[in-house]
Amino acid sequence: LGGSISRALQQMSNATVIDEKVLNECLNEITRALLQSDVQFKLVRDMQTNIKKIVNLDDLAAGHNKRRIIQQAIFNELCKILDPGKPSFTPKKGKASVIMFVGLQGSGKTTTCTKYAFYHQKKGWKPALVCADTFRAGAFDQLKQNATKAKIPFYGSYMESDPVRIAAEGVERFKKENCDLIIVDTSGRHKQEASLFEEMRQVAEATKPDLVIFVMDSSIGQAAFDQAQAFKQSVSVGAVIVTKMDGHAKGGGALSAVAATKSPVIFIGTGEHMDEFEVFDVKPFVSRLLGMGDWSGFMDKIHEVVPMDQQPELLQKLSEGNFTLRIMYEQFQNILKMGPIGQVFSMLPGFSAELMPKGREKESQAKIKRYMTMMDSMTNEELDSSNPKLMNESRMMRIARGSGRAVREVMEMLEEYKRLAKIWSKMKGLKIPKKGEMSAL
Ligand code: GDP
Ligand code: MG
Repeated sequence: LGGSISRALQQMSNATVIDEKVLNECLNEITRALLQSDVQFKLVRDMQTNIKKIVNLDDLAAGHNKRRIIQQAIFNELCKILDPGKPSFTPKKGKASVIMFVGLQGSGKTTTCTKYAFYHQKKGWKPALVCADTFRAGAFDQLKQNATKAKIPFYGSYMESDPVRIAAEGVERFKKENCDLIIVDTSGRHKQEASLFEEMRQVAEATKPDLVIFVMDSSIGQAAFDQAQAFKQSVSVGAVIVTKMDGHAKGGGALSAVAATKSPVIFIGTGEHMDEFEVFDVKPFVSRLLGMGDWSGFMDKIHEVVPMDQQPELLQKLSEGNFTLRIMYEQFQNILKMGPIGQVFSMLPGFSAELMPKGREKESQAKIKRYMTMMDSMTNEELDSSNPKLMNESRMMRIARGSGRAVREVMEMLEEYKRLAKIWSKMKGLKIPKKGEMSAL
C-alpha cells in the first residue's frame, strides 16, 4: 500500500503540469490502495471529494512541494475520520463502572477483557471479570484462566445457561465487593444472528453498562462497517478496540467502526499476551495505514530540525536494534531539555501517549526525572546491556537503595524501558536515509 501511494505521488510530482487529470489519476491510485487496506468504499470516496476541495491546484502548480501537500491532506482526512468528535466515557477510579464487551466470536473479546482489566489493575484499580458467554463451551474456563493468571476476581458458571442472569448476578456481587471496574464478557455467536443481538440488548438492560466496547479483529476487512453498525443498533456502543494489530492487517476497518458507531478507538491489541495492549494513538495508526511506518515522520522531522553533523549516532545504534537503558536515559535528557530532538522524540509513538500524555507534561517530567535518578545509580554494565535478564532482584534492590526509591519504582522504570525497547526494536534494520533522499512517504 505504502508503495503504491508513494508511486502515485511520485508520478504526480514528476509531471510538469499538474492539472485536474493528473490529480485525479493520483487520487484514484490512492483510493485503490486504501480499499486494499480495508478502508470502506464510501469513506474513501468522501475523502477523495474532500481532498479535491482542499488541495488548491494553483498552489500546486506554483512549485510548492506537491507531494507533501497532498500527503498531508490525506493524512489529515484519515485522522479526521478516526475522530468522532467526542471522547468516550472514562471510568473513574473508586467509583463502580460497568463495562460491557461486545463483538463477534473470535474477535478477541475474552482476551481483551483481561488485557483491559490488567491494564487498569496495574494503575491501581480494582477490576473484576464476569463471563456472560454461555454459548461457547469452554468460554468460562478461558476467562477463568486469564483472570487467575492476572489475579483478577471473576464470576461465571458451568451450569447456568442464562447469560442475562449471570451477568446481573456478577455485576451485583462485584458492586458489593467495591470493585470499580466491572467488566462483562459476552458471547459472540448464536444459533441465529438475531438472537445474538437480542441477547446483547438484554444483557445491557440487566447490567446497565456505563460503557459498551465493540471489539473488532483488524483483519475483518470490508465487513467492519456492517458488523459495527449491527451491534450499535442493539446496544449503545461507546468505544472501539481493534485487536490483532500485530498481524498483517493495516486495520483500515477501524475507520468504518468509528464511522458506524460514532465512537472513538480507545485501545489496540498487539499480541496474545496480557500486556500486549496499547492506548490508541491516531497518528501512528494512520501512518501505518498509509504504509508510512511509524518512523518515516520521525525521520523527516530529524532531518528537518537537527543539523546534519549532529544527527546522532543514535540512529545508527537504533538501526542495530540495541535500545539500551543508556539510550533511554539520553532520550529522557533530550526530552527534559525540550530541545529540537526533545520535540522530535515527544512525537514518537511510545513516548507520547503513554509516557507523556497531553496536558500532563509536569507530571510526566517529574516521572522522567525520577526514572533518571534511579538510572544514575546503575552501573555502566547495566546501562549498556541489552540483556533483559541482567536486571535481577539484588541489582534492583541496590538501585533502589542507591537512589532512595522503592524497589517497586525501579521495577516500574524497567517495565517502561521494556515497553519502549519493544516499540523501538522496530527500528532494527532501518535504512537511514540522508537528507534529500527521503522517500515520498
Ligand atoms: P472472543 O471469541 O471474541 O472472546 O475471542 P478470544 O479472546 O477468545 O480470542 C480469539 C483468538 O484471538 C485467541 O486465540 C486469542 O489469543 C487471539 N487474540 C486476541 N487478541 C489478539 C491480538 O491482539 N493479537 C493476536 N495475535 N491474537 C489475539
Ligand atoms: Mg470469548
